[in-house]
Amino acid sequence: MKAIAVVPGTREVKLIEQEAPPVAAPTHVKLRMLDVGICGTDREICAFQYGTPPHGSEHLVIGHESLGEVVEVGAAVTRLERGDLVVPMVRRPCGHQDCAACRAGRQDFCFTGDFSERGIKNLHGFMTEFVVDEERYMHVVPRALREVAVLVEPLTIAEKALIQVDQVQQRLPWGCEFEPGKRRKACHRAVVIGAGPVGLLGAMALVARGFDTSVYSRELIPNPKADLVAAIGGHYFSAQDTTLEQLAEHVGNIDLVYEATGASAIAFQMMRVLGTNGIFVFTGVPGRKAPIEVDTDVIMRNLVLKNQVVFGTVNAGVEAFEAAIRDVALFQERWPSAVRALITGRYPVEAYRELLVGPAQGIKNVLTFA
Ligand code: BGC
Repeated sequence: MKAIAVVPGTREVKLIEQEAPPVAAPTHVKLRMLDVGICGTDREICAFQYGTPPHGSEHLVIGHESLGEVVEVGAAVTRLERGDLVVPMVRRPCGHQDCAACRAGRQDFCFTGDFSERGIKNLHGFMTEFVVDEERYMHVVPRALREVAVLVEPLTIAEKALIQVDQVQQRLPWGCEFEPGKRRKACHRAVVIGAGPVGLLGAMALVARGFDTSVYSRELIPNPKADLVAAIGGHYFSAQDTTLEQLAEHVGNIDLVYEATGASAIAFQMMRVLGTNGIFVFTGVPGRKAPIEVDTDVIMRNLVLKNQVVFGTVNAGVEAFEAAIRDVALFQERWPSAVRALITGRYPVEAYRELLVGPAQGIKNVLTFA
């Protein structure tokens, strides 16, 4: 079967042929991969800036955003059957007995750093025709989501972030919980930095929770991403003609910044305009560039005098996967053409090279094996 692999030793990105894996344990299921999304992490792995092959392997099969169809189940599998559509989780626990997070099934909070991630770190990924994995890492998605379920994994990043935002906002005694149909109280103005897939999916999740949502990104209006933001009821501002101060003036008190660019300079500048009682969430992983100057006095003063919270978030747990599946269904019902516009194109596996190492283009590109 075909797979897309990187070989760090020779710095190659190539299509390889390998044997289809057997269902080796009773708790395993075999998936035929249907769609595999390409993201910034994959492109970084293909540029040899990130990613680690499994121990003893010279290559790493990439791919972690995926949708598969169950084609075989082990004898002890109870929850899944042939024909089910599933989205597999990415991260697997470390083996340390004293890692409270991994032992609690929350490897997304792994303490030791010895976790593995399919298609990223120490485990082969999903950019291949068949995959064998444990039942417990599979999340079933309804058939009706066949065309869009590849967006579930990138959406889990926002879902995990928003679960934590809810937890932080519980400190505000006037109640920030979202009641459908009602405007949120004074904790509902969000700015998303970046209009890539993580940013746009984050914006959708925020709008769906009643946040007044603005997306701040590079390109000038008009552009397809700005149209998409308008279509979901958000506001789009270009960094080329709107300063951060102007943005803050439009928005009002910025209760939440959801960073989805991986560009640290703009993120730390944005921190200056975070509002009172505001939360700043980092999701991007910047490459190492030259140090920049940051006005740490202003940032620290604001953090203290405005009760601000800053946190970073990576990967996602079971709850976030389930929330992402519910939200993809909701988005599809509410904004069908915007959701479709997120997927720029579906390409046969042979098109991998241009998509992984060519110039970045579109929003979400998907390799299809079906
Ligand atoms: C993936 C996460 C992963 C992270 C860090 C992201 O692209 O979606 O599952 O934890 O990269 O490796």
